[in-house]
Amino acid sequence: MVLIFVDHSDSEIKKSSYEVLSYGAALAEKLGTSAEALLLGAVKDDLATLGNYGVSKVHQVSNDALNNLDAQVYARAVADAVTSLNADVIVFSHNQTGKAVAPRVAARLKAGLVAGAVALPDTSNGFVVKKNVFSGKAFANVNITSAIKIISLNPNSFQVKQTGGTASVEQLNITVSEPKVKVTSVNKVKGEVPLTEAEIVVSGGRGLKGPENWKMVEDLAHELHAATACSRPVADAGWRPHHEHVGQTGIQIAPNLYIAIGISGAIQHLAGVNRSKTIVVINKDPEAPFFKAADYGIVGDAFEVVPKLTDEIKKL
Ligand code: FAD
Repeated sequence: MVLIFVDHSDSEIKKSSYEVLSYGAALAEKLGTSAEALLLGAVKDDLATLGNYGVSKVHQVSNDALNNLDAQVYARAVADAVTSLNADVIVFSHNQTGKAVAPRVAARLKAGLVAGAVALPDTSNGFVVKKNVFSGKAFANVNITSAIKIISLNPNSFQVKQTGGTASVEQLNITVSEPKVKVTSVNKVKGEVPLTEAEIVVSGGRGLKGPENWKMVEDLAHELHAATACSRPVADAGWRPHHEHVGQTGIQIAPNLYIAIGISGAIQHLAGVNRSKTIVVINKDPEAPFFKAADYGIVGDAFEVVPKLTDEIKKL
């Protein structure tokens, strides 16, 4: 059986979970087995509707300790669920949760893990999973040889497919360990869309000269229902908060559309954004390296181009 880990935050199922459900369902079909989902904690969503993404059953472990992510508690619960349900393959999203939980589950179950898969496994000769390496510069094909196999799927690697089905929902009785740390308060980040879940990201670099000029980035992001991001020097200078910093040493994202304004396109920046489906670059220097990675480029002064772009989008 293929068991798909359904991730959530703020009592809502994360968008990345639907992609992982579709991937897990396609994998189960390929292996001739069933696809089932595992949800730890509680969400507002009706779990039966997850059947629409190809799973026949949803196993829920209801326990207040699971309503927020604690990687150690989650890993133990997932590992126990896998043993109790006799799952052969476990699929996570390669998001913050998957990155924290999947390796711990693999260690507990002595299972092989491919982190950052980009396609369904080739099962013609083993269980060979294609993954990104060197920050998306190359691919590696990795054969998982252990009995239990774990895959974390790179966001935006697989088409979400709706099947029209409904799933049965069952409570799974496993012992949930006591968290060793306690969250005492949460300060929510201001912003319309969380960066890691955003379909569209509007990002600014040092070319914007100072924090006082970010209003035009925010205005464009607002019109596009996008999240905002920035290059590292911008966060280091305190122009923007560090949680917006994308790149090799920041957050790695893969939105459908990434708009880079006044960012040169250094390799360390590209490492965090080059899996975006479409990249639009606005830079006044036609030689800026980012243009080589761009699908669309505008050579021009951001202070002229961006307000015009926002005005045009407002008219749509
Ligand atoms: P700049 O390189 O200064 O580029 C500014 C750009 O704006 C230029 O291309 C310029 O032509 C353009 N511009 C100027 N004025 C305008 C205008 N009016 N209109 C339009 N365009 C204009 N960087 C990251 O971003 N993320 C990382 O995770 C990261 N990790 C790193 C890790 C290491 C170990 C190291 C050594 C570096 C790392 N860096 C990272 C830094 C990276 O190498 C670059 O220095 C950085 O990305 C440059 O940021 P920038 O493009 O905003 O600034």
